[in-house]
Amino acid sequence: MSFTLAIVGRPNVGKSTLFNRLVGKKIALVDDQPGVTRDLREGQGRIGDISFTVIDTAGLEDATDDSLQGRMRKLTERAVEMADVCLFLIDARVGVTPTDEVLAEILRKKSARVLVAANKSEGRAADAGVIEAWSLGLGEPIRLSAEHGEGISELYSMLMPISDEFENRGQDIQEFAPTTDVSVSDEDDEGIDLVAAERVWRPSVERPLQVAVVGRPNAGKSTLINKILGHERLLTGPEAGITRDSISVQIDWDGTPMRVFDTAGMRKKAKVQDKLESMSVSDGLRALKFAEVVVVLLDAAIPFETQDLRIADLAEREGRAVVIAVNKWDIEDEKQDKLKALKEDFERSLPQLRGAPLVTVSAKTGKGLDRLQQAIVKAHETWNRRVSTGQLNRWLIGMLEQHPPPAPSGRRIKLRYMTQAKTRPPGFVVMCSQPDKMPESYSRYLVNGLRESFDMQGTPIRLYMRGQG
Ligand code: GDP
Ligand code: GDP
Repeated sequence: MSFTLAIVGRPNVGKSTLFNRLVGKKIALVDDQPGVTRDLREGQGRIGDISFTVIDTAGLEDATDDSLQGRMRKLTERAVEMADVCLFLIDARVGVTPTDEVLAEILRKKSARVLVAANKSEGRAADAGVIEAWSLGLGEPIRLSAEHGEGISELYSMLMPISDEFENRGQDIQEFAPTTDVSVSDEDDEGIDLVAAERVWRPSVERPLQVAVVGRPNAGKSTLINKILGHERLLTGPEAGITRDSISVQIDWDGTPMRVFDTAGMRKKAKVQDKLESMSVSDGLRALKFAEVVVVLLDAAIPFETQDLRIADLAEREGRAVVIAVNKWDIEDEKQDKLKALKEDFERSLPQLRGAPLVTVSAKTGKGLDRLQQAIVKAHETWNRRVSTGQLNRWLIGMLEQHPPPAPSGRRIKLRYMTQAKTRPPGFVVMCSQPDKMPESYSRYLVNGLRESFDMQGTPIRLYMRGQG
């Protein structure tokens, strides 16, 4: 059983563009009944391995009777009734408008699940709008560019648990429990209203953690996945909890449900024998899009090759949690020396992933797989971590005292306030004077400090400097 997704939002935010992207082809608006405005379109949407029905509420511009807002309100209400999930779009370049607020209020009152996305968010110009979308009180905004296809992986990871839930229906009916998480920033005296009441839906069924195992050909990806599967079979019996499709395997690994994207499997499926090198990178890329945690599997004999570095860097840029696993450790002697050299290599060649866990494993013998599992779970937890505004600002004061910010052209940059604007990966907004003059080195000082003070290793951290204007 699949679910129904309604795309709602005021005119011109990009609903049709997103609809077309999800449905994969342009569907013309068919006016089969003259005089009647067809205002809801329906199509079959697909992202990766999940499919669903999409309803688009575009077409409002044709409204002749009623006021635009009145019609929009009615349509939104209708869509909410028809849909299992509403995807509420705003235009990140414009920010939150009064009409957006009216629609958000309707959506907040309904008990349908609502996801909010800030569309047109390609490029930095949209940063402010993305952050503003938090104020709608509908949870964490998805940073989306329907036109450029960015953020579709985030949308996927939000829809995945819903899809899983609907697929499980009939066997085991478990509703999502709507819970209201109110996290209002506790130092709001400067009138900054970045983090409003946040409403989240938590699956009552634990959703599988999405893992991609990526790496150069022959690193041992297939061996690793088969070992994990075999290990699980031993623990749980031949049929239990293992479902396998072309690109992913769902398993229960030491008590944690995971969906493992099998890039080696993808490659074999594609049956491309030549250009193996580049193929494996593009397979890896596809898997990266769907993953929450990326395991970069290295061959201990040839670690940190260009291709490995490229994949690890892409994972960081895509904002995934990263675990480095060094495979074939069974054939290494001088393990201590080798490990030391590996760690140095890692720091030198991937400074952007500083602190990410490095685990040595043998896919062949199974040694180290328990530590790999723990590293994955921890990296995922960190990736989802939220630090309270109070804690952050107390921490910031200490950081400023220890190492004051620079004073470009004689005027010291003032850092006034800080809040966590997003998770998956963690993103922080720092309100400051002269944000455009903030040197990279100072941002890095703050990011490294965040990692150490709040134990946030193995996840990319985003820092946004914003002026108060
Ligand atoms: P709708 O009225 O909500 O259905 O909006 P449309 O899908 O018709 O899009 C309105 C305008 O925004 C069009 O000109 C689109 O090309 C543009 N647009 C849609 N998505 C994006 C995006 O991600 N980035 C940018 N820059 N423009 C977009
Ligand atoms: P993939 O291309 O990344 O999927 O790599 P495979 O899983 O096909 O493994 C490539 C080769 O490395 C095979 O010959 C495996 O038997 C071998 N291999 C994989 N893992 C290990 C390991 O932990 N130790 C040793 N000694 N060999 C391994």
